[in-house]
Amino acid sequence: MNVIGHGKQVIKERVLDSITAKKAVKKNRQIPISARVARECIGIAYGFFSPLNGFMDIKTLNSVCQKMKLLDGTLWPIPILLDISKDEIDKNNLRVGDQIILSYQKEPLAVLDVEEIYLYDKQKIAQAVLGTSDEKHPGVKMLDKWNDYFIAGPIQLISEPQFQPPFDRFWYTPLQLRKIFEEKGWEHVVAHQTRNVPHTGHEWLMKGAWFSANEDISIERIKTGILVSCIIGPKRVGDYIDEAIILGQQQLNESRYFRNDIHMTSFVLWDMRYAGPKEALLHAIIRSNLGCTHHMFGRDHAGVGSYYDPYDAHRIFDEVPEGKLNIKPVRILEWWYCPICQEVTYSGLCGHTNERQNFSGTMIRSIIQDKVQPTSLLMRPEVFQTMMHSAEKYGFGSPFCSEEYLKKRQPVFRLSATS
Ligand SMILES: [Zn+2]
Repeated sequence: MNVIGHGKQVIKERVLDSITAKKAVKKNRQIPISARVARECIGIAYGFFSPLNGFMDIKTLNSVCQKMKLLDGTLWPIPILLDISKDEIDKNNLRVGDQIILSYQKEPLAVLDVEEIYLYDKQKIAQAVLGTSDEKHPGVKMLDKWNDYFIAGPIQLISEPQFQPPFDRFWYTPLQLRKIFEEKGWEHVVAHQTRNVPHTGHEWLMKGAWFSANEDISIERIKTGILVSCIIGPKRVGDYIDEAIILGQQQLNESRYFRNDIHMTSFVLWDMRYAGPKEALLHAIIRSNLGCTHHMFGRDHAGVGSYYDPYDAHRIFDEVPEGKLNIKPVRILEWWYCPICQEVTYSGLCGHTNERQNFSGTMIRSIIQDKVQPTSLLMRPEVFQTMMHSAEKYGFGSPFCSEEYLKKRQPVFRLSATS
């Protein structure tokens, strides 16, 4: 089993023991951080972003923006940054060489050794990473909200996040996942990234990718698995609620549309930048750190509006130099329903191009919005039931995020007090 991570580094977790953590908290100033920075601290500490050990300095940031590389030449497409306001710097008299505690929801989360404090033009980041500075792009909107200064330095986690139900049973660190893959005997693992409750088009996308990854099929033993890796991050009104996504995905397993021994559901904390091709590369890097050998990329992966060609996220992998990425992209065209074939079929196979009925997320959404169960050709009835159950239990009656959900939802994780 290959346990070498992205950049050929073995993953090292960055979590302090409780005695050292308590000492650090006692000694140092606390600086509040945003939810995004908190999620990224957790990502760094457990090795989702390996080989990063902290937030980027200005040299690394320039290199990532201009060359898509870390300073040692490791492929890296999107900057991981800790933004801070001038006020916060001045108020705390922050200097290079300080050690600070990053606190989230008033609890200490991580300790950071300040190596650099710098000002950077966020427009330049937007242009380099997103290819636009159009303020309508959600990634540009996100950057606009960040503070103008940045702190660089390595971090170590003080408090391990306590994931709340229903997320707790789907939380696996990269080291845990690699161990599980080994125990399951999965030599190939194909990652499915999602922010959706699955319709049958998604199910077939996974099935097609599984066939692609299952190159050396043996009748003795199945050696290929699917890792559903849901993205859990900030939500907008109208998105599916996180609970429905993760439980809906798992339902495909519980109802045995996927055998339990070839499929598992997990999640990654990440704030989507909608950077299209560059974000596809980052998703591949994260999943290679999880121990996946393949990653499926459908149409318009991590895209938004018409900023990127729907297949840019496929093409960018052609530009990656040999040996720079430890995961193979499985590039997938479209699955649709064909009334002549009378089944869900694939654009690369079915020639009834004029008859095709595309899976329209918007159409399925509008059916569900009216609380009508879509035909089983569109969505498995068990998935629909699970989604509606999640809506009652977690979504204030709706499987889609409402203002009420955004305000009152249960947090995904809590931090336990250490002091
Ligand atoms: Zn057909």
